[in-house]
Amino acid sequence: MRFREQRESLVNHLIEVGVLNTPRIIEAFKKMPRHLFVRKDYIRHAYDDIPLPTFKSQTISQPYTIVVMTEALEPKPGEKILEIGAGSGYQAALLGYCVGPKGKVITLELEPDLVEFAKNNIKGVKLKNVKVIQGDGKKGYQKESPYDKCMITAACKEIPKPVIEQVKVGGRIVAPVNNFFGQRMMVVDKLSKKKFKKKDLGSFVFVPLR
Ligand code: SAH
Repeated sequence: MRFREQRESLVNHLIEVGVLNTPRIIEAFKKMPRHLFVRKDYIRHAYDDIPLPTFKSQTISQPYTIVVMTEALEPKPGEKILEIGAGSGYQAALLGYCVGPKGKVITLELEPDLVEFAKNNIKGVKLKNVKVIQGDGKKGYQKESPYDKCMITAACKEIPKPVIEQVKVGGRIVAPVNNFFGQRMMVVDKLSKKKFKKKDLGSFVFVPLR
């Protein structure tokens, strides 16, 4: 009960500051138990608006950042989404909720320990449409392609080419990309095989894509 109240107040805060707007995404944040995705030793901070350590010097992103990225991706029921950087599995679980039982989320993670962590956490919330796969996100995941959308949750020098190819024309990629000014949250719409529309949502801090 205590967790539910804390979650409610975090959700209300994110609505009040103006980042959380879409009813289905609000519902996802209200329902998803973030305390089941953080390390037990940080559970009392599960609903603070801060990033928390997972394992191997990696993190579960700050709720504010997760909201900005999820709102920017605009996940819809029935879509197939690729996430790169499963970490705790929390972001993938939110996306899984948003795309619903007819949709699917594939999330890639490099670190075997984190693959296990994400798999267990997702099993804990009984989401059957989210698949955690060990692999290098820079290669994307050809086997399940094409994807309607992709979210990269680690900072990259540029969006990996295979990922761009594996997203459908008309699809979208949200990713923190390094440039001269630091890490910028980019929203990239794939208008055709070679034409892209880019939008910069501002500065964010991420662990690097390795
Ligand atoms: N989305 C996560 C947070 C991700 S942090 C969550 O909701 O908790 C970034 C993650 O990307 C880390 O777990 C890191 O191990 C992973 N990562 C880094 N480089 C990667 C790569 N090349 N391929 C797949 N995962 C990678």
